[in-house]
Amino acid sequence: MEKIFDVIILGLGAMGSSCAYNLSKRGLKVLGIEQFSPVHSLGSSHGQSRVIREAYFEHPLYVPLVQRSYELWEELEEKAQEKLLWKTGGLMIGSEGSAVFQGALKSALEHNLPYKKLNSQEIRERLEVLHVSDDMVAILEPRAGFLCPEKCMESFLNLAQKQGADLHFSEKVLSWQADSQGVSVVTSQGEYKGKKIIFSAGAWLNELVSDCNFPIQVHRQTLFWFTPQQKASYFASPNFPIYICEYDSGKYFYGFPDLGEGVKVAFHHIGPKCEPDQIDREVKEEEVEEMRSVLRSFMPELNGPLAKTSVCMYTMLPDSHFLIDFHPQHSENVLILSPCSGHGFKFASAIGEIASDLIEKNKSPFDIELFRAQRFFKETTS
Ligand SMILES: Cc1cc2nc3c(=O)[nH]c(=O)nc-3n(C[C@H](O)[C@H](O)[C@H](O)COP(=O)(O)OP(=O)(O)OC[C@H]3O[C@@H](n4cnc5c(N)ncnc54)[C@H](O)[C@@H]3O)c2cc1C
Repeated sequence: MEKIFDVIILGLGAMGSSCAYNLSKRGLKVLGIEQFSPVHSLGSSHGQSRVIREAYFEHPLYVPLVQRSYELWEELEEKAQEKLLWKTGGLMIGSEGSAVFQGALKSALEHNLPYKKLNSQEIRERLEVLHVSDDMVAILEPRAGFLCPEKCMESFLNLAQKQGADLHFSEKVLSWQADSQGVSVVTSQGEYKGKKIIFSAGAWLNELVSDCNFPIQVHRQTLFWFTPQQKASYFASPNFPIYICEYDSGKYFYGFPDLGEGVKVAFHHIGPKCEPDQIDREVKEEEVEEMRSVLRSFMPELNGPLAKTSVCMYTMLPDSHFLIDFHPQHSENVLILSPCSGHGFKFASAIGEIASDLIEKNKSPFDIELFRAQRFFKETTS
């Protein structure tokens, strides 16, 4: 008899691997399909580290989600017997009126989070290699830090398989169908039937749900690792915090301690638009120079030899929030997840749980109104 899966997950990156883990933990029959190898570096979830922070400058609504994410990352560490999360503390830096500072302060106050406001002198004391200007201030939050994305996804996938999930790699989803009877998926290797589908295809989402006309844009982002020219041991110290610095209005650079392959820094504002299958994966000299010009002003000790680079993709929505909702035409059995907009990884543990609740119970205990698809289809009145 043909096997009918409870849920077929399309894409096994950050969100898909978490869904596979969470759904199989609940005893559901899960099929996960991934076009590349496990934990590859061709999507949006590679590059050694991802920031996690609690005083969320994008919107206070994210705070309960990130708090649940922390709990679930710690639970995953326990189950996988793997260190995944490092709490280094974090600095959200900008001018007094900057989005990053004001937004982090708002979330901290609204949710009664522990935080400290630092002036420029105090920022220099906490992170002596960051040469901020005198008008800069920061929110210091103690629980911020970073996750290792590769280890997180590997843990989800290994545990999902142990819990009975069928995970297929190097298999591309070509088409799908859904009606009130169930769903079917055609891939490069075969055809599968199920009761429900989750789309967690990251930068490729638009190709699979082009009928929805979501206003999704994919952007090319570059990551840089430098070898410090001075104070190398300072950059490698366990006390080195993560930081996000809004150095000009809407322009951000952020970074991490040295994790053994150089010190990673990147821009958070969006790069050029791209197509996921045609993206240029080579980092150009002028892109390195753009980062060096920021380092010259703000972190001159780090402006040493380039250790390595990587290219990644932000899948952006116009308001920079997530998309977590059922397909507008298949609200009973097709769930769409696009929690990127450049800041989704930290939530992957909670999003797997939320998606599982939506699949099983059609609701979530979290407020996810901000992420509804409906916001893109509101009728405009003149
Ligand atoms: C440079 C960079 C830095 C970031 N920094 C942070 C950070 O510090 N903190 C943070 O919280 N977030 C950060 N983010 C965002 C975060 O990494 C992403 O939100 C998250 O990783 C996206 O996960 P995803 O599952 O949606 O996509 P992915 O992990 O890319 O997974 C999508 C998967 O679907 C597969 N797929 C697509 N189409 C098909 C198909 N047809 N058939 C089969 N498989 C398919 C793909 O191969 C891929 O594996 C960053 C992102 C980037 C790019």
